[in-house]
Amino acid sequence: MKTVLMVAEKPSLAQSIAKILSRGNLNSRKGLNGVCSVHEYAGTFLQQNVRFKVTSVCGHVMTLDFIGKYNNWDKVDPAELFSKAPTEKKEANPKLNMVKFLQVEGRGIDYIVLWLDCDKEGENICFEVLDAIKPVMNIPRGNEKVVYRAKFSAITDSDISKAMNQLGEPNRNEALSVDARQELDLRVGCAFTRFQTKYFQGKYGNLDSSLVSFGPCQTPTLGFCVERHDKIQSFKPEAYWVLQAKVTNSAGDSMVLDWDRVRVFDREIAQMYLNMTKSTKETKVQSVSKKEKVKQRPQALNTVEMLRVASSALGMSPQHTMQIAEKLYTQGYISYPRTETTQYPESFDLKATLRQQANNINWSDVVKALLTEGINRPRKGQDVGDHPPITPMRSATEAELGSDGWRLYEYITRHFIATISYDCKYLQTTVAFNIDEEHFTCTGKTLLSAGYTTVMPWQSLADEETLPVCEGGDVFAVNEVKLLEKQTSPPDYLTESELITLMEKHGIGTDASIPVHINNICQRNYVTVESGRRLKPTNLGIVLVHGYYKIDEELVLPTIRSAVEKQLGLIAAGKADFPPVLEHALNIFKRKFHFFVDSIAGMDELMEVSFSPIAESGKPLSRCGKCHRFMKYIQAKPSRMHCSHCDDTYNLPQNGTIKLYKELRCPLDEFELVLWSSGSRGKSYPLCPYCYNHPPFRDMKKGMGCNECTHPTCQHSLSLLGIVQCVECESGVLVFDPTSGPKWKMACNSCNVVVHFFENAHRVKVSSETCVCEAAIVDVDFNKAKSPLPGEATQHSGCVFCDPVFQNLVELQYAKMKHPMHRGGGGQGRRRGRGRGRRPSGRGNPKKPKDKMAALAAYFV
Ligand SMILES: [Zn+2]
Ligand SMILES: [Zn+2]
Ligand SMILES: [Zn+2]
Ligand SMILES: [Zn+2]
Ligand SMILES: [Zn+2]
Repeated sequence: MKTVLMVAEKPSLAQSIAKILSRGNLNSRKGLNGVCSVHEYAGTFLQQNVRFKVTSVCGHVMTLDFIGKYNNWDKVDPAELFSKAPTEKKEANPKLNMVKFLQVEGRGIDYIVLWLDCDKEGENICFEVLDAIKPVMNIPRGNEKVVYRAKFSAITDSDISKAMNQLGEPNRNEALSVDARQELDLRVGCAFTRFQTKYFQGKYGNLDSSLVSFGPCQTPTLGFCVERHDKIQSFKPEAYWVLQAKVTNSAGDSMVLDWDRVRVFDREIAQMYLNMTKSTKETKVQSVSKKEKVKQRPQALNTVEMLRVASSALGMSPQHTMQIAEKLYTQGYISYPRTETTQYPESFDLKATLRQQANNINWSDVVKALLTEGINRPRKGQDVGDHPPITPMRSATEAELGSDGWRLYEYITRHFIATISYDCKYLQTTVAFNIDEEHFTCTGKTLLSAGYTTVMPWQSLADEETLPVCEGGDVFAVNEVKLLEKQTSPPDYLTESELITLMEKHGIGTDASIPVHINNICQRNYVTVESGRRLKPTNLGIVLVHGYYKIDEELVLPTIRSAVEKQLGLIAAGKADFPPVLEHALNIFKRKFHFFVDSIAGMDELMEVSFSPIAESGKPLSRCGKCHRFMKYIQAKPSRMHCSHCDDTYNLPQNGTIKLYKELRCPLDEFELVLWSSGSRGKSYPLCPYCYNHPPFRDMKKGMGCNECTHPTCQHSLSLLGIVQCVECESGVLVFDPTSGPKWKMACNSCNVVVHFFENAHRVKVSSETCVCEAAIVDVDFNKAKSPLPGEATQHSGCVFCDPVFQNLVELQYAKMKHPMHRGGGGQGRRRGRGRGRRPSGRGNPKKPKDKMAALAAYFV
């Protein structure tokens, strides 16, 4: 029997799709990476009986990166990144072992059906999957077609079944446009970012970012926020005057009238109008006009509009909104949430979609009324041909979706119902008066039919006071005419929603990437999110944008990026070739880069005003091993050490405190050691500022402290203080912290496991002997008065794990904060297998761990 492999974008999608296509008749098992499942069932394909295997990837399989030495910031001139540096595709998440997993499941299959999400990224992943599987699948006979692509917009029975019956082919051009974008962003972003980060980071002590990044999209996005900031700064308020009158009729109904001139900017002229009118005691109605007006129902919902409303009305960031929307889509509650389309295709069954909501108590009245009355045709919008607008696919309750999930779902559903409801209609009445020669009016609105505003109540007409009944010639007494003095006010900082509008208007980013760029400029500390989700640029953000403007405004203006996006669109449409488009864009940026490098002094002048030179920052802490003078500790993020004599800067671990460590020196380079600590409930370890930045041994990476140092004789190294392989993670070693007394502890040098032991002991020492379990034997001394040891003993040596006397004196915990420099580690809660020791086995590394650790670890839990 032949086998058909089907691949979706995420594990949950594979499961939903398999359930629908097999009608619930399937067998599931976990794949070899432990994350993806494989769902199998029997069925027919191309009129043959076949076995189906449905599985998934986890987003992109591959990621683009430079090869080898080009990833080293210190060894490569960033200018080489534009053309010379070769790139390669690497596995996006090596831990998932995705290529191997796909090859195991794809070996010997006959057909492949691609169920990746139907957008450009999904199309790109199609080819990543094919690259992995094609070499191992059965060779087709003749030129039989074996690769198929399913196109769908929602995870519903009808959509999925329909897609299965109308399989097409993956679109190579769309995939290539994604490749082009990736390569362009990588080369341009890395070149500029590396150059400016290295240039500025070493010069200013209070530059509050570890990365001074540039992105062809990110920077214009920041540019919009700074442009608004500049407008606010340069705004000069101006005084103006408004004439306001109050009139009352014989029945006692009064109205406040608006001046037809609205306002004047000259005090004397304003005073003249007041003098003209203030003695008038009586006025007549000149005319009463009534006009029926319409408030239009919204257009069908696309991504950008959803992001705008979620930010302004629900207070949710674009990034968070997309995550929630994708979850709702994966669970089948809404259609695909990445779309530019605002018009339903002719074939879309609006009624059936609406009927799903008829019993949802939140809006059943409106829905039932609409079903009886007949739905309205949605407004015309734009059909981009990618997906239908974002639409609820089945009814849901708040309990099912959770708070944010529900708020977004509720909005999407109410918006959908509104699009097929009727417009809101109202009557606008305007009453006009003359006071002396001046014209005044009063306007009121009366609701005729609420239409869609019943389901979108936040858009309904404000309860304006109804106007008194009157007609032309009616006489009103003028109670009062007064002059109001006001001031023009500056614009406010851009809201996220306004920023999205600007990005869309200028063609920067796409529905998929807009949230990422906005998130980036927040995360990198170029803007902060203020109340009302307004984006206020930071000092650094402002200086950067002003600097680019000074050197080359095109680095900030959206023009180049939108031109590039257009060309990428041409690649996707098959109207332009990948290599020339990429080369052309890279050439432009390469020239800009060289000009930027030559003109960097211009930017530096701005930096000098905002930031202080590194030599004047920080306070003396520990001695430099080269010149033996004190180096300064710069606390501003990213915290660093700087020797002003040697003019060298040393990076430090972040998010903790740094102290001098007993004035001890590293035996390799004579730098004084410092102690990093994340607080009393956390971890701490000593490090040598030099070795931390320039690893002395081949098996050490940058950013390792003495607890990972394999120096065979150093008193502070892993070799002498390491006790045993971590009980929790695969790669770490539990290292004794000799500074931790009297609350002694050992901590994993990789994950956040901390073991507390021997509280109040006055001395704890790691001996050179080992237990049968291969943990190092520990010598402990207690004071007589405080000793918990039996028989008033004050000394004991033994294994922390095996020794019965120690048993009650040892306690496993987790450090409060995870060390941010520690790569890997799936975070708390996810326990991976306690594999065999992978500890670097240098010389003088006696405490090799052993298989029995699993059993020993159980001792703690
Ligand atoms: Zn020095
Ligand atoms: Zn050192
Ligand atoms: Zn050392
Ligand atoms: Zn660990
Ligand atoms: Zn032992």
